[in-house]
Formats: sequence, C-alpha cells, structure tokens
Amino acid sequence: MNHPETFVENSAEFVGALKGRTTLISGACLDVFGNRFFRDLVRHSARIDRYARGTGSVLAKAVAGRHVRFATIDSDCCLDYEVGTNRIVVNREFFDQIGARLLDDIALSGFVRSVDARRFVRVAIRSAVRMVIGHELFHPAQGAPTIDVVRAAARSLGWNEFAKFDVDADVRAALVEAVLSCGEYGPVSYGKILHHFEDALAFQLRYCVPIFGCPESKPHKRSRAAALTLQLGRVVELNRKKGGVSQTEFKSVTMPLYVKFDEAYSELGVMGLDPLVYLGSFQFDKNELRPFFEQLDKGNVESLVMQAIELNTRIGLSNL
Ligand SMILES: [Zn+2]
Repeated sequence: MNHPETFVENSAEFVGALKGRTTLISGACLDVFGNRFFRDLVRHSARIDRYARGTGSVLAKAVAGRHVRFATIDSDCCLDYEVGTNRIVVNREFFDQIGARLLDDIALSGFVRSVDARRFVRVAIRSAVRMVIGHELFHPAQGAPTIDVVRAAARSLGWNEFAKFDVDADVRAALVEAVLSCGEYGPVSYGKILHHFEDALAFQLRYCVPIFGCPESKPHKRSRAAALTLQLGRVVELNRKKGGVSQTEFKSVTMPLYVKFDEAYSELGVMGLDPLVYLGSFQFDKNELRPFFEQLDKGNVESLVMQAIELNTRIGLSNL
C-alpha cells in the first residue's frame, strides 16, 4: 500500500494549502485513485453484485479495458467518454471543491500530526473519486449516457422524475464504496458493510450535497437530499442495534427512498425505488418540515441525522 505522503505534492505545499485554502490534490493522485477504482470494479464485481444490488457487473462492463484521467473540462459535464480512445476524462473541478471543504474540516478538527491530516485527506478523496465516478458510470445503464440525454429526459419527464435516477445512482455508488472499503479490513458481512455504508452516505451529504446545493428554487434537489438523509437515519438506527444484521434488514435499509413535499412544507409523500413501493403520505403543521429541508445543503450531518431519525419514527420508516 502506498504511504499517504505520496498522495499530496510535498510538505511545503500541504502546509501552504492549509494556510491558503487552495487545493492540495495532485492530478497524479486523482488518476491513481481513479484507475485503482476501475481495477477494483473488475476484480470485485461478483462481491459488489451480491451486496450492491447487481451494480458490480454493470460498472465492471462500463470500465473494462478503459482508463481514467482527471482534467479541467470546459463544461459542467462531470465525465466524458473520449471519442476514439479507451479513456474516460473526469472533470477535476468538483474534487478541488471537495478538497477545499476538507481543508476547512482539518482546520476545525485539530489534527496534531500532519500525517493524520494527510491520511484523512487521502481516504476522503478516494471516497469522493469512487462515489462520484460510480454515480456517473451508472447513468448509461439507466438509459442516460450523456448530459444531453439527461437534459432531454429531465425536460420531458420533469426534474422530479429524473431525481429518482440520481437517488438510485447515489445509493448504488455509496454501496459500492461500502463494499470496497469494507473489503480492505478482511472478510465482509452485512453488518460490517452497513457501517461503511453509513460513512458513505454521510460523506455524500457532508461533502457532495453542499457543493451542488439544494435551494428552495430546486425542490427536486431537496427531495433527493432529504431521501438520502432519511435513508441514513434508518441505517444509523440499525447500526446502533445490538446483534448482527440479517440479509432482510440489510436489503430493507439499503433500499433507495424518494420523498416529495408540498409548497407549504406540511405534507410528505414517501416511496421506495427498489422495489417500487408506496410508503405513505404524512401530514404536518404548516411549515413544520421547512427547517429540515432548509438545512440539507449545510452539510451538518449530525444534526440532520437526529432529525431524520425523529421523522422516521413519526412516519413509521423505522419499522419497515
Ligand atoms: Zn447524476
């Protein structure tokens, strides 16, 4: 295994990044993480299939014989299949923004030794690489291989419908991340993977959601983040329970959810996406749900999870 130091440029630059709040992720580091991810998808596809709803074979097929390179792309597109080559180019801008948020967290967390801070960055950036690329690689399997097709789908179906595709890809990416990171520590089990799944979902909510944001003008983004938060609440509750996690419980809490709310923030509709199942409509006082939805893009995961667990109890999602 590579020593963490190899993944940031050098000590002077690392300290400078901490002081100046500039990016500290080298392009070579991102390329290494990306290409290892491709290799691991192929190598561990059967295990990923087993624990991540068949996602392993789909992603292994998407990356077989290909390699990845990070670059600054002059568009809002995250990932591009380079024509005429076997290369996938990933827009690195997003990872620089995550790096900046990590620097803020390091400043607050009070790491004493720089090696610990470096390790924190290394693990976090690897998670970001695996989950962002994992999400994007799944869109072609959903029938939306390019950003133009995504836009056409959203235009005709509505953004709220397309947000369900995003939630599905988010949850699959978090499960793939959970299986791969769990596998580094020996034999895997439903219970062990579920702890890594909790970390992966929390990572998405803490680092990815705030970058794209979910303002009031984009209710589909709020729905997507709220669905992930309620799901994380269910996972946290199960992880806190004593005793092992059964296959049935694992399948239940890894089921992606989707939620819809009204303009008065007083009614919540909840559905499961796999299997497709209606889970109920729930009434609240006018504006009662507003504070929860307004906090979703602040990245304050601990507070959000507490609220999600309370909400899950009130609407019965805890007992599924
Ligand atoms: Zn997407």
